[in-house]
Amino acid sequence: MRLYKALLKHNDCYLRGRTIRPRGVMVHSTGANNPWLRRYIAPDDGRLGAPSPRHWNQGGVGACVHAMIGKAADGSIAVYQTLPWNMRGWHCGRSGNDTHISFEICEDSLTDKDYFQATYQVAVELTAYLCGRFNLNPLADGVVLCHSEGYQRGIASNHADVLHWWGKFGVDMDDFRADVALEMARAQGGERDLTEQEVRQIVREELAAAQAERDKLPPSDWAKDGLEKAKAASITDGTRPQGWCTRQEAALMLLAQRSN
Ligand SMILES: [Zn+2]
Repeated sequence: MRLYKALLKHNDCYLRGRTIRPRGVMVHSTGANNPWLRRYIAPDDGRLGAPSPRHWNQGGVGACVHAMIGKAADGSIAVYQTLPWNMRGWHCGRSGNDTHISFEICEDSLTDKDYFQATYQVAVELTAYLCGRFNLNPLADGVVLCHSEGYQRGIASNHADVLHWWGKFGVDMDDFRADVALEMARAQGGERDLTEQEVRQIVREELAAAQAERDKLPPSDWAKDGLEKAKAASITDGTRPQGWCTRQEAALMLLAQRSN
C-alpha cells in the first residue's frame, strides 16, 4: 500500500474542524466512471497530475472522506489520506459520519477485473491499518461496513456502494471483513518473535519429516548381507533399515540373538 497525505484543507469538513472518536470504517466507491485521483484531490503533488476543476479541495463540495484509493498520473494505484483520521467527514449523510472513518475507491467502468483486484487489495490493507491503529475488531458487528450496509442499519443514506461493483466479481463485505482480519493477523505475525513452545514444535515437525524420509531408504551395501542374516535369525523384521532404533527395540533384538 502506497499511502500518501494530501489533506483537503479548503474543504468545508476540514474548515469546520469537528472531531470524532472512530468506532469503525465505512467503505465507499464514487459512483462515477473516473479512476483518477486528480478528479478529487488537489493540488498536484507531482504524482497526481493536474486536478479537475471540480476537485474536493475547495468550498461547496458537500462531501469529504478520510482517504481515497485510485490511480496516480502514472496509472499505478495509490491511497491518499485526505482528512485527519479523527476529523468528522461527510460521506454517508447520516449518523455514520459521527462514528466511522471513511474512504472512497474511485470507480472505473466496473468491468476491469485487474483494477477491481488492485483497489480491493489496497482497501483491505488500508482498513487493516486503520483497525490496528484505532484498536477496532473488523469482525465485530457494525465496525467495518460499506455504504449500503450503513443504509440497512439506518446510519447512512440510501446508496448501493460498494456491493453494486464488488458483487460483479463475486465478492461481498463478509469476504472483505475476513480479508481485513487475515491481513491484520499476517501483519502481526510478521513482527512477533516465536515463543519457545512454537520453536520446539517446528523442530519436532522438521525432525519427524526428516525421519519419514530416512525410513523410505533401502539398506546400505555394506549392511545388506548382515541384514538378511538378522532377518533369518528373527533379530529384525528388516523394515526401515535406515531408521533409528529405540532402546526397547535394541533390547528385544539382543534378547532374540541370545535365545537363538
Ligand atoms: Zn458511498
